[in-house]
Amino acid sequence: MPDVSAQRKSDRTVPAAPTRTWFSVAPHLQPRHVGDRAPWGVVHAGISGLGTTACGISRTTWFVFWHLPFDGRKPESCRPCALRLAELSRRIAD
Ligand SMILES: [Zn+2]
Repeated sequence: MPDVSAQRKSDRTVPAAPTRTWFSVAPHLQPRHVGDRAPWGVVHAGISGLGTTACGISRTTWFVFWHLPFDGRKPESCRPCALRLAELSRRIAD
C-alpha cells in the first residue's frame, strides 16, 4: 500500500491579506427563531479582543454570533460598521 501521508511542505497557502474575521454582534436575539440563534434588529460588526463594535459602541453585554460573519451589504447591517470595515480593507490593500 502506497504511503499517502507524504509531506507536502511547499503546498502551504499564505493568505494575501492578514484580515481577521469580523463577526455579527447585536444587543438582541431573534425570539422564537428556529435553528441557529439569530440577531434581532441592527447587526453590528465585532472582533475578538475588542470590547466595542466597529462603529465604537460597547458590546460587552451583547450577543455574539460567531457563525455569522458580518456582511455590510445586508439591509440590517449597521452603516457606520460597514463603512469602517470598507475603510479598513482599503487601508490593507494600499
Ligand atoms: Zn455598528
